[in-house]
Amino acid sequence: MRHLVLVLGDQLNLDSAAFEGFDPAQDRVLMIEARGEADGVCWSHKARIALFLSAMRHTAEAIRARGWPLRYLRLDEAVGAADETPLAARLAAVLAEQPPEGLLVVEPGEWRLARAIESVAAAAGVPLRPRPDRHFLCSRADFARWAQPMKGSLRMEFFYREQRRRHRVLLDAEGQPEGGAWNFDADNRSAYPKSGPGTIPPPAGFAPDALTREVFDLVERVFPGHPGRLEHFAWPVTREQALEALDRFIAHRLAHFGPYQDAMWEATPFGWHSLLSTSLNLKLLDPREVIAAAEAAYRAGRAPLAGVEGFIRQILGWREFIRGVYWRFMPELAEANHFAHHRPLPRWWWTGDTQMACARDVIRQTLDHGYAHHIQRLMVTGLFGLLAGLDPQAVAAWYLAVYVDAVEWVELPNVAGMALFADGGRFTSKPYLASGAYIQRQSNHCTGCRYRPERKTGPDACPYTVLYWAFLDRHEAALAGNARTALMVKNLQRLDAAQRADLRASAEGVLARLDEL
Ligand code: FAD
Repeated sequence: MRHLVLVLGDQLNLDSAAFEGFDPAQDRVLMIEARGEADGVCWSHKARIALFLSAMRHTAEAIRARGWPLRYLRLDEAVGAADETPLAARLAAVLAEQPPEGLLVVEPGEWRLARAIESVAAAAGVPLRPRPDRHFLCSRADFARWAQPMKGSLRMEFFYREQRRRHRVLLDAEGQPEGGAWNFDADNRSAYPKSGPGTIPPPAGFAPDALTREVFDLVERVFPGHPGRLEHFAWPVTREQALEALDRFIAHRLAHFGPYQDAMWEATPFGWHSLLSTSLNLKLLDPREVIAAAEAAYRAGRAPLAGVEGFIRQILGWREFIRGVYWRFMPELAEANHFAHHRPLPRWWWTGDTQMACARDVIRQTLDHGYAHHIQRLMVTGLFGLLAGLDPQAVAAWYLAVYVDAVEWVELPNVAGMALFADGGRFTSKPYLASGAYIQRQSNHCTGCRYRPERKTGPDACPYTVLYWAFLDRHEAALAGNARTALMVKNLQRLDAAQRADLRASAEGVLARLDEL
């Protein structure tokens, strides 16, 4: 055999660089289902495991349909020694059976897996030929070149502008930003009207076919105690379905995506969001086609500029930036703990059984669907993790486990950097801090909640509000020195010594009964 082309579970694009020059007469494709992958760091939502395995098996069918030779190792299929379940060990066993002249793989998205594949290939004496990941619009080398001269922390906004110019996205005839501004974020932060979100056209959903149902059986059999449910599973698992999901989003939901991006409402898990992250992260969709479709909708007058710009910024800006940040700051990012937070996760993070209406709604929908939108992840669970001083590694492991779109390169910087500020601000200018008042402004969760968002102390005080003030109190000097948080500290300093002592006592009470909140 000349080349063995390893297709990883989150690299399901058949036009990737690994297939360049593929010759079915001499080369072979290898796909490996491995427990270590599906289990994540600790364990994983059943829907996440099912999504990965179903999308892999559908991709395998597409490979066979092309007539390409494929070795596909199923999760329950033994290779080599029986206990060799992680991907690297299974790969080593395959290479030992029949060593190819070269092992081709698109550069893996995960730092540890990349190292592990290198070691396995070296140990087997098989030359490893990594190919660039062309899925992304900014290569790792280009990001490193952009970031190199930057003093202080990296700023997404400057990166994003450069990406817009370089890829000629949303520019006018003079090469200036369409509409005269790079960023229309101020128009994109509304809450739903008091009467509620109204009728939102549902996102595309796909009934599980026979192959996916077979995967469900496997998941229930092999991972019975894992979190989450499969009965709502409707994720795209093929490229055709991913394209249909994109079309449906552009036609029915993009026009309202912008204003309600940051809005939350009880029992409204998807809002106007795209639900395209799984298809993008599995590489069933190319970000270029998503960006082009959104821009075309704007040019055709089918969606307003502010919302389209906001949507494109998430993909051309945030997604590419986050990937660059991951590779720049790994492996330190995985260990970062700026505030030395060590509290374990409260039990209700795995069940949603809490009296805080916002956290209950977000965690329950997470267990139902493996999905929560950005503001729910950042400003409900993430914010709680920061304010309560939860251990960043435990929080990151939770996010990696419970979201269907979770892959480490995008999950870790969002959790450790954005939500928890555990990296001390390498690419964010301040911690994302807020009290219960923010959640009240952006949602209807506080109506009917047992806790009151405006109260700092007392039995009805909202734990977010209590912990917010205590956080300011604890980090007063550092937050006062940051122009973007100085105003928060000024408000704290209006309180007298007795009020501040009350605050501290109130926070201690909340932290002492985290499991019962
Ligand atoms: P939309 O709101 O419709 O946005 C469109 C697309 O933009 C998304 O599909 C996604 O590809 C991209 N995007 C938006 N925000 C970000 C961001 N901050 N970073 C990178 N890409 C972004 N995203 C993941 O794909 N996997 C994760 O594991 C993940 N973990 C997160 C953890 C935390 C604590 C936070 C705050 C955010 C996380 N995100 C993650 C980013 C974002 O929340 C999800 O991409 C988004 O909610 C997915 O839903 P959607 O496809 O409906 O997104």
